[in-house]
Amino acid sequence: MKKLGMLLFVVASLAMVFTRVVLAADSLAEIKKKGVIVAGVKDSTPPFGYIDEKSRQLVGYDIDIVNAIAKKLGVRVELKTVTSASRMPQLQEGHIDIIAATMTKNAERAKVIDFSHAYFLTGQKFITRKGSVKNLKDLEGKRIGTAKGSTSEQNVKKAIPTATVLSFDDYPQALLALQQGKVQAVTTDEAILAGILSKTPNKAQFEIPNLQISDEPYGLGMRKGDKNLVSLVNKTLLELEQSGEAARIFSKWFGPTTQFHLQRTFKITAAK
Ligand code: GLU
Repeated sequence: MKKLGMLLFVVASLAMVFTRVVLAADSLAEIKKKGVIVAGVKDSTPPFGYIDEKSRQLVGYDIDIVNAIAKKLGVRVELKTVTSASRMPQLQEGHIDIIAATMTKNAERAKVIDFSHAYFLTGQKFITRKGSVKNLKDLEGKRIGTAKGSTSEQNVKKAIPTATVLSFDDYPQALLALQQGKVQAVTTDEAILAGILSKTPNKAQFEIPNLQISDEPYGLGMRKGDKNLVSLVNKTLLELEQSGEAARIFSKWFGPTTQFHLQRTFKITAAK
């Protein structure tokens, strides 16, 4: 009986390895065959991925970028919600084909998954009660909220080692903790902080001091070795830059007609 169990275990493990190898081999062909690309996106990170109050649809910058890629491929998009902590496992287990979820492209993550060229640039800051924080010293020994599995969590521990970092499933929960006085600051990428603050009823009580602790370039995540999909995605991103479409998408979510008035300080290039 023990032997049979062992045999089943070995067969199951081999099947899993085989599925992963096949999945990694050519998602692009698979996506074209199925006529659908499954994208992992955020659902409470305005304006990157969130549920629009009127249409009840998932919308945002990340979603428009995925839609543009799907258009190029001539396939439909299916959106699945991910969190910062779940996005890499979801991809590796084959539940999604691509991550478009405010994800920083860095060397550590690139050991596990492949990234597209960077398609957005931001940097890590804090939300605090107005006037409470002038420099990083003011955050020493304080409680700071962020999201599990994010670079924000790692960066803040390095930047302010004396702080107690509380990691939530997502950023809105961290902001709630700030409103309730359970943490003294929330930290993540500035563009995300500005987005969640804009949806907060008592936003006038808070601010984002000009204290940046890192650069965060976003990449689209794909399975390691998924060469054809990565090159199609990169080609599309460069075309979107050339045609002005990437700038239009930026402007739609961050430009002068929005509450953010952000300048586009980056271009999508093959170098990043
Ligand atoms: N961009 C950072 C990261 O990839 C923070 C935002 C997030 O948690 O998605 O971890």
